[in-house]
Amino acid sequence: MVEKVIIIGSGPAGYTAAIYAYRDGLDPLLIKGFEAGGQLMLTSAVENFPGFSSILGPDLMEKLYQHAKGLGCRMIDGNVSKVDFSVYPYKLFVDQEQYETYSVVIATGASAKWLGLPNEKRLMGKGVSGCAVCDGFFFKNKDVIVVGGGDSAMEDASYLANMVKSVTVVHRRDSFKASKIMQEKVLNDKRIRVLWNSEVVDILGDTKVSGASVKDLKTGSISKIPVEGVFIAIGHKPNTDVFRGQIDIDKDGYINTNGFTKTSKEGVFCAGDVQDRVYKQAVIAAGWGCMAAMEARKFLAEKKII
Ligand code: NDP
Repeated sequence: MVEKVIIIGSGPAGYTAAIYAYRDGLDPLLIKGFEAGGQLMLTSAVENFPGFSSILGPDLMEKLYQHAKGLGCRMIDGNVSKVDFSVYPYKLFVDQEQYETYSVVIATGASAKWLGLPNEKRLMGKGVSGCAVCDGFFFKNKDVIVVGGGDSAMEDASYLANMVKSVTVVHRRDSFKASKIMQEKVLNDKRIRVLWNSEVVDILGDTKVSGASVKDLKTGSISKIPVEGVFIAIGHKPNTDVFRGQIDIDKDGYINTNGFTKTSKEGVFCAGDVQDRVYKQAVIAAGWGCMAAMEARKFLAEKKII
């Protein structure tokens, strides 16, 4: 059997694509992937997804899953290990199983990079966050650290400075990687201090974050900084390794598109963080999922497959 559309990924983009594709009569098959539910599974309260004044990230993903499943979308728990877009219908492999499809929506998302400290994982959602826009609100009048020296760290620091008590940017070098204009915004903001040549070596706290141990890389001395929030902004890695050589992917791993979900391969569309290096928001990923499903439908109709 050749599928009309296979959707890869089960974050907001993937489930939204599935809901639209199903309602459009495409009988989509969704392959959930290793990190089923995507980045929201690592988030605590989500207060910026329209329609929900406050909902836990995993609960929101369960609702999206139930919506797609309730309609009748078929789903597979596995991970796509290989694709072949050089033949048509396209071939996808999930473990040993092979699938054929006339169109594909790639919604495999991106994974935030983390420092890799044991307490970082333990205190995730309890003061450790990878998204200032999502979680900043919970740190009103509290002291926080932002780790990183790129545009994300600058944007997070500037955003947080408007609501928290103090922001300390901890960066491992003596200059920022960020664009000049975003650096200047941070450096000229009296509410933000920068610790240069410094590294967070531990995050402190039992049930929630109470501080961070920061190492001065020049002297080797370690000091404890009392903070209630640690925002990690050291970049994201799009989950695109399996598509390398099959579609155009930029040097950072993001999929190159024509701006409207079309990849370099006809009939292969993408949605969500896998192609979004700027916004990285669940509601936007969901919107991309809708667009990709509509584009897939248009493509299948033009090909006279539906
Ligand atoms: P970047 O890769 O640009 O920057 C990552 C930063 O984190 C670097 O300063 C890096 O240090 C630091 N870092 C990486 N790993 C570690 C580690 N293990 N420990 C400590 N520090 C670490 O990622 P961004 O997310 O900032 O940006 C990604 C892309 O998205 C960029 O192209 C950026 O321009 C874009 N972007 C644009 C925005 C906008 O235009 N509004 C907003 C946000 C992002 P070092 O400098 O030493 O390498």
